[in-house]
Amino acid sequence: IYTEVLEPSMLHGNQAPPPSDQKALPYAPIYKTGSNLLARQLFHIPPQCLQILDELGHGRFGKIFLAGTVNVSLKDLKLNEDTDRNKSILVAMKQLKPEASPELRDAFNQEIKFMSHLQHANVVRLLAVSLTDESPFIVIEYMENGDLHQFLRQLELQPNSATVSSDHISPVILLYITVQIASGMRYLANKRFVHRDLAARNILVGRDFVTKISDFGMSRSLYESSYYCVAGQLILPIRWMSTETYYGQFSVKSDSWAFGVTVWEVFMLCRSLPYSHLQDDEVIADAVKGEEREVLQKPESCPTEVYAVLRRCFVHSPQVRADFEEIYSRLFVIYKKFVEEIC
Ligand code: ADP
Repeated sequence: IYTEVLEPSMLHGNQAPPPSDQKALPYAPIYKTGSNLLARQLFHIPPQCLQILDELGHGRFGKIFLAGTVNVSLKDLKLNEDTDRNKSILVAMKQLKPEASPELRDAFNQEIKFMSHLQHANVVRLLAVSLTDESPFIVIEYMENGDLHQFLRQLELQPNSATVSSDHISPVILLYITVQIASGMRYLANKRFVHRDLAARNILVGRDFVTKISDFGMSRSLYESSYYCVAGQLILPIRWMSTETYYGQFSVKSDSWAFGVTVWEVFMLCRSLPYSHLQDDEVIADAVKGEEREVLQKPESCPTEVYAVLRRCFVHSPQVRADFEEIYSRLFVIYKKFVEEIC
């Protein structure tokens, strides 16, 4: 699948850089299967225990619904000790479309296996599954503000302040969102998982700006312009990719690069595609220049110290590029300082 267990050699970032004469694209399979992970013990929820309330969106696998649980306790969902089954819990239900190809089914199962191992405040939780042949689905945490990309696009920037309004967001909250993404990514990196598609569109936002990493498959349908097409097929998030990933070398360090682009999106309030002045083929031509490639400029609202961290994410050599320990600790210190100044 899209996410994978990392080779130890890649974790330490000692893979050889791509030879300069190596031809870029098309490069590699989209979905790496064969991961030897086993799904953690999961709650198998009977379909009648969910009442569909609304449609939240649709992605590669099919539709995503808002649903309320019927006769299910928080304990069943491994959320806490509460055992009151009469209280309905709001959840998101991701269905695999009936016409899914065997490859898509495989990818869906791989995503389940992968997600079942993740438990972190900034990573979307898999709560239950229903794996019938006809209509399998998964139940995940409901994040009431949807994906970060559409969430930020509807907001305007306001100067730093401790107060929040429903249609404005301040730099300190953007920083709070950023630190949470870094925290979730640090967790994934420590588990040796590579996300490969970190971008604002693949992050979900809950109440009070709680932010969680999602989409361990690809959510493309809403964001087709973010991906590059080869022979009519959408495959690569080229604008989020470090140079070595153009040669198939994904690692926790390529996630660091994508993190830098994601934070750039955050401080742009997702108003622009990265390198929006370049066409897809120009992005590719530029990216394979390696060290000489264009670097994303500091968004106006991005604090200088935060941009300095982004520059560490945009280091050409994966060996030298910042890892998530460095990213998280630096951003956390900056965030703390900001909060102290405001309060
Ligand atoms: P897929 O993995 O099938 O491609 P996604 O996970 O990308 O689908 O979901 C598509 C859209 O549905 C997202 O962009 C988001 O707006 C909405 N969505 C997905 N999961 C949730 C959730 N847990 N809570 C709220 N909205 C969600």
